Amino acid sequence: MPAGGRPAGQQTVRRHNLSLVSRAVADAPASRTELAQRTGLTKATVSSLVDALLAQGILAEGAAPSPRVGRPARPVSLNPDGPVALGIEINVDYIAACLLNLPGTERAGRRLALDNRNRQPDDILRRVVELCTQLCDELGAPLIGAALALPGVVSAGQVVLRAPNLPALTGVRLGERLADLLGLIEIQVDNEANFGALAWRRSAPDAGEDFVYVSGEIGVGAGLVVGGSLFRGVGGFAGELGHVVVERDGPSCGCGGRGCLEQYAGQDVLLRAAGQPDPAALLAAVAAHDPVALAAVRQAGAALGVGLASLLNVVDLPVVVLGGLYAQLFEQLAPALRAELDLRVLAGPGTTIRPSELGADAAVRGAARAVLDRMLDDPAAVIWSAGS
Ligand SMILES: [Zn+2]
Repeated sequence: MPAGGRPAGQQTVRRHNLSLVSRAVADAPASRTELAQRTGLTKATVSSLVDALLAQGILAEGAAPSPRVGRPARPVSLNPDGPVALGIEINVDYIAACLLNLPGTERAGRRLALDNRNRQPDDILRRVVELCTQLCDELGAPLIGAALALPGVVSAGQVVLRAPNLPALTGVRLGERLADLLGLIEIQVDNEANFGALAWRRSAPDAGEDFVYVSGEIGVGAGLVVGGSLFRGVGGFAGELGHVVVERDGPSCGCGGRGCLEQYAGQDVLLRAAGQPDPAALLAAVAAHDPVALAAVRQAGAALGVGLASLLNVVDLPVVVLGGLYAQLFEQLAPALRAELDLRVLAGPGTTIRPSELGADAAVRGAARAVLDRMLDDPAAVIWSAGS
C-alpha cells in the first residue's frame, strides 16, 4: 500500500531515502545525527525514516552512551532479532535452506540429502516447502523474502533453461511455483555458482572486485565477477565451466557433448575414481592419506586446472576461489591445479587460488544474501508489503 497516500514523486523520493538510510546503517551503526551527515539528508527527514524502519523491526535502537552533557544520541543498527531472509538451494543430491538475520548472521540452517536426479519438480518442491516451513516455524521470525539457488541456467524471466544434472527442471518456472506454495510475492532464482560468488564477496573482506568462484558439486559451475558485478552473458549461460571441453573424444556428458570438465572433476567422477561412496568418506580417506583417494583428487585438480586455464585465457581474471567440495579438498587439490594454471595461463604464473570459507553452504547463504541486498535497495517494499 503506498505510504500515507502521498503523491508519486514524494513516494519515489521517500523510497530512495529509505534505501540511503538503510545502507548507511548497514555500513555501520550510527545515531540519527551521524546518519544525516552520512546521507546528506536533514536530521528531521532521517528521524522520520528511522522511525518507520524501527516500527517495522528493520532497525533496532541501541543503548545510549553516557555523555557528560545534553541528551544522549542512541545509535541505530540493523535489527539482529528482526525479520529474516530465506535462502533455498535445490542441488543434485541435496536440498538446503537457511535463514539470515538482517546483519547477515545465520539464525538457522539445514541440509537434507536427497537424490533429485530422477525426481519430478512437484515432489522436489513439496520437500523444499516442508524444509522451509519447518525452519521458519522453529525460528518464528517474519520473512522479508526468499531466493532459490539451482545447478542450472536460469533466464532473465526466471525460467530454468538448462539443468543438465536435473533435466526434469528444464522449462519449469520454479520460483513462481515455490513462491505460491510458500505464500510469498516472488522468489528470485539464480545459478548456484552465482549465489556462491555473491556469498564469498560478502563474507571475505579482501574479496576484491574481480574473481572466478568455482562451485565444486556434482556439476561444476563458475560465477564470474568482473568489476564487482556478476558477468552472466547475454542469455545467462556464462560460467558453465563444467561443460568446457578438456578432451574432444572424452566420455559423454549430460549436456549432450563429450569430454566436458565435469566428466573429469565433478563429484560423482571423483568419488568413483577414489573408490568412496560419498563426500564425507572421501574427506576421511584423504585425511587418512589413502593413496587412491589422494591420486583421484590430484587428477581432478589437474583437470580443473586445464578447464580453468581455458576460461582464464578468455576472461583474464586474477583470482580463483574454490567452493563446495573443492574448498574442503583445497590442500590436496590446489597443487595440481596451480601447476596447470602456471603452465597454461598466458598472463603468466601468479593466479591467486583460494578456498571459500563457506564451503558447501555458499550457494544457500548467497541466496539469502541476495534477499538482504534487495531489501537494502528498497526497504519500502518490505514496509508496504507488511501493510503499514
Ligand atoms: Zn557437458
